[in-house]
Amino acid sequence: MEEAREVRTTCPYCGVGCGVLAEVAADGTTTVRGDPEHPANFGRLCSKGAALGETLGLEGRLLRPEILGKPAGWDEALDLVAEKFSRAIAEHGPDSVAFYVSGQLLTEDYYVANKLMKGFIGSANIDTNSRLCMASSVAGHRRAFGEDIVPGVYEDFESADLIVLTGSNTAWCHPVLYQRMLAARRERGTKLVVIDPRRTATADECDLHLPLDPGTDVLLFNGLLARLVQAGKIDAAFIRDSTSGFDAATALAGADAPSVARVAKGCGLAAADVEAFYDLFAETERTVTVYSQGVNQSAHGTDKVNAIINCHLATGRIGKPGMGPFSVTGQPNAMGGREVGGLANQLAAHMDFADPSAIDRVGRFWNAPNIARRGGLKAVDMFQAVAEGRIKALWVMGTNPAVSMPDASRVRAALSKCDFVVVSDVTRTDTTRYADVLLPAAGWGEKDGTVTNSERLLSRQRPFVPPPGEARADWRIICDVAIRMGFGDAFAYQSPAEIFREHAALSAFENDGERLFDLGGLTGLSDTDYGAFAPRHWPALDNREQQTRLFADGRFPTPDGRARFVPVRQEATAFTVDADYPLALNTGRLRDQWHTMTRTGNVPRLMANAPEPAVDLHPADAAAHHLKDGDLAHLSTRFGFVRARVHLTEAQRRGQAFMPMHWSGHFAAKAAAGLVSSPITDPHSGQPELKHVPVRIERE
Ligand code: SF4
Repeated sequence: MEEAREVRTTCPYCGVGCGVLAEVAADGTTTVRGDPEHPANFGRLCSKGAALGETLGLEGRLLRPEILGKPAGWDEALDLVAEKFSRAIAEHGPDSVAFYVSGQLLTEDYYVANKLMKGFIGSANIDTNSRLCMASSVAGHRRAFGEDIVPGVYEDFESADLIVLTGSNTAWCHPVLYQRMLAARRERGTKLVVIDPRRTATADECDLHLPLDPGTDVLLFNGLLARLVQAGKIDAAFIRDSTSGFDAATALAGADAPSVARVAKGCGLAAADVEAFYDLFAETERTVTVYSQGVNQSAHGTDKVNAIINCHLATGRIGKPGMGPFSVTGQPNAMGGREVGGLANQLAAHMDFADPSAIDRVGRFWNAPNIARRGGLKAVDMFQAVAEGRIKALWVMGTNPAVSMPDASRVRAALSKCDFVVVSDVTRTDTTRYADVLLPAAGWGEKDGTVTNSERLLSRQRPFVPPPGEARADWRIICDVAIRMGFGDAFAYQSPAEIFREHAALSAFENDGERLFDLGGLTGLSDTDYGAFAPRHWPALDNREQQTRLFADGRFPTPDGRARFVPVRQEATAFTVDADYPLALNTGRLRDQWHTMTRTGNVPRLMANAPEPAVDLHPADAAAHHLKDGDLAHLSTRFGFVRARVHLTEAQRRGQAFMPMHWSGHFAAKAAAGLVSSPITDPHSGQPELKHVPVRIERE
C-alpha cells in the first residue's frame, strides 16, 4: 500500500489564487486544507476551495477521445483534428480557423496554444473566456499605464485605511480576500465603501453602501475627480512629474459631473451618500479601489476602469503601500493568459500588434514561419464569424460557451452549423455535444504547471493523482496536433518546465526594461527548481520591492514614462428599460458555485444553499408583476428567455432583477443566464455587457 503524501498546489477556481495542501491518504482518498505558507491565503479557504477534495470523482469525466460521439483512439482523433485544421487553412486561409480557450488553462497550456495559432498557423484567432471577465481592465490598464499591470499586492488591503469595492461582491466572489480585508478592518479600523446596485453580502460589513443605478460608475468617479480638484486634494507634484493628460481628463470630468447634485441624480443616489464617499476618499491617503466584473462587464467597462484610475493618478495614490486601483480577476489563471497572449488582440509576453518591431521580435524568437500581423477575433465576434460560416474549424478548450456566452442560443446555433468543432475538456458539458472530435483533458489534481493570480503572483498547480482513463494534459494535446500539422520542431516539448522556461525567455528577449512583464530571472530554472517553485511575484527580478508593488518610482511603461489620464464621459447602457422590458436584469455569481457548475455542481453541500435557478426581485416589483415568493417566472429579453423561481429580497433595488450566471447541464435549456444576456460589447475591450439587459418578467 502507498504511503500518505501531501502536495502543495493552487485552487483552480478564482483569481485570489489560494494555496492548497492536498493530502492523499494511503487508500487514495484526498483531503484538502489551506496552505498556511501561501502568501495569497495563509491557510484560509472558502467554501468552494474547502470542497475541492469532493470534486475528484469520475462523474461526467471524459475518459477517451470520441469522433462523432463514438470512442476513438488518440492517434485517430489527433490525425483528424490536424487534417481538418490544415485543410481549412489551405483552402480558406489561416483566418478560417479559431481557438476559444480558457482561464482554466495553465500558463504552459496557454503558451503553446497561442504560439501555435499566432506563430505557426498565422492567425490571431485565439481568444479566451477571460474576455468575458476582465478584458476591460486589460484595456484600461494599457490606456493608463502602457501595459496590462495591476500595480498593487494583496498586502495593500491590510495597510489601507479605506477600501472602495466597486462592482465587486468580494464576500462571495473572492471570499478569502474579503476575509483578509475584514481581518484588517478589525485590527486597524479600515473603512469599507461598497458601490453596487445590489445590497450584496459584501455590503453587510460596510460603512457606506452606494446602490448606484446600473452603468453609472463613470459619472460617480468623474464627480470624484472633479471634487478632488475643486478641494485641492490632488498630488500636484506626482501629476507634474509622473502623468500626462490631467487637464483634458479633469475638464471632461468637470463638465460631465459639475456638482454632487448632478451626480446623485444621474446615479440614482442620495446626495448625502455621494458627499460622504467623496469626503472619505479625499481625506484618506491610504485608499485602495477594488473593482471586478460589475465594472468590466459593460459596454463602457474600459471607461469605467479609467475613471477609477484617473482618481488614483490625481491623488498620487498608486505604487505605495495601502494605495492603488486594483482589478481582481475571476479565474485562477486569467492573468497568466494575459501574459502569454491568450487574448486575440495581444501578441505574447505583453507585446501587441500595434508595434511592428514586437511582431518581428516574437516571430524571430519563435522562428515562426507565419507570424500573425494583426489582432484576431474577440469572443463575441468569433462566434459571430462561426455563425456566418467564416470560421471553418473551431477548437474550444476548457470552457463552456454554449452556456456562458451572451446570446447563447445564437452561439449554440453557430456551433451546430460549424464545419468542424473540436472540444477538449475535463468533463462532458453543454458544449461537448456540438463536438465532432472530443478530447479528454487532465483536470485539477492531475495537471502540472503554473498560474498567475490577481496580484501577479505565480504559483504552481501540481499533480497528485494520475489522469483517469486516457485523459492528457492540455499542453500535450496541443503539441500533438501541432506536430501533426508539420510544426514538430517548435512543439517537441517534453515537459511543462521546458515550456515555462521558453515563456520566461520570451518575456526577457530584447526587453531592456521597456516592458515590465519580465520573467528573465526564471529563464534558467532547472526541472528540480520548477518542481519546487515557491509563489513569486513578477517581474522576477532581484529587487523585492519591484517584484511586489509596482510604480513605486513614479515611472510607467509608456513611451514617455508617464501614466496617462484618460478623459472619459458617462454614456448610457447599450439598452435602456422601456414599456416592453421594464426591469434591468443583472447577472453574477453565487457564493458556492463556480462557472457553469461543471465541478461545484457535483458537491451536494455546495448545491444545498441554492438548489435551483432563482431570480431576485424587490417585493414591490414582484407585486406589480403579480408574482410572489416561490412562483415560477418567465424572463424574456430581446435575446431569449429563461425560467427561474422568484426570490423576494429587499437587497434588490426596485426596477432591477438579479440572476446567477451558473445554471447549466439539465438547467441549461431553460435557465442559462447566457440565453438572455446581451452580446453588445465595449468598443475598446470587446467585453460584453453582462451586467445589464432590459427584461420582462411574467408568471410562468
Ligand atoms: Fe479558491 Fe478563490 Fe476560494 Fe481561494 S477564494 S479557496 S482561490 S475559490
